[in-house]
Amino acid sequence: DQRTLVLLKPDTVRRGLVGEVLGRFEAKGLSIVAMQQRTIDGELADQHYAEHVERDFYPPLRTFVTSGPLVALVLAGEEAIEVVRALNGATDGRKAAPGTIRGDLSVSNRENLVHGSDSPESAEREIGIWFPGL
Ligand code: ATP
Repeated sequence: DQRTLVLLKPDTVRRGLVGEVLGRFEAKGLSIVAMQQRTIDGELADQHYAEHVERDFYPPLRTFVTSGPLVALVLAGEEAIEVVRALNGATDGRKAAPGTIRGDLSVSNRENLVHGSDSPESAEREIGIWFPGL
């Protein structure tokens, strides 16, 4: 099975939506390989978002993802990367389709509840960052 790295970002934890969001992944049939709640520092945020550190939107994103506890997960299943991204919906919660996590539960481009790896290469890179040795 394919593995993917998923984050339930600090807005998910703050809003009490961990159960709701995790439940959607479980109900879909993905399995939880690893799961940890933690508060990260800016350095880990920079590693995770290496491709975005130079972007205009990055400084407030960095502040947001370090603002409180988040839940990091490794999920596995057939085509898990694509399945998770379909469940997550478009980046901007205002534009994400109803029925998706972001479409149903977020109205923000930044505080959009979830992250999912976008390719097998980024999944393995991100799993190495969040769960070294897994
Ligand atoms: P993720 O990688 O978190 O699954 P994504 O692939 O939909 O989301 P990216 O383009 O990789 O989105 O951006 C990473 C994250 O940066 C987004 O999830 C969002 O939190 C934030 N972000 C992206 N674009 C913007 C923007 N224009 N304004 C504010 N925040 C943004």
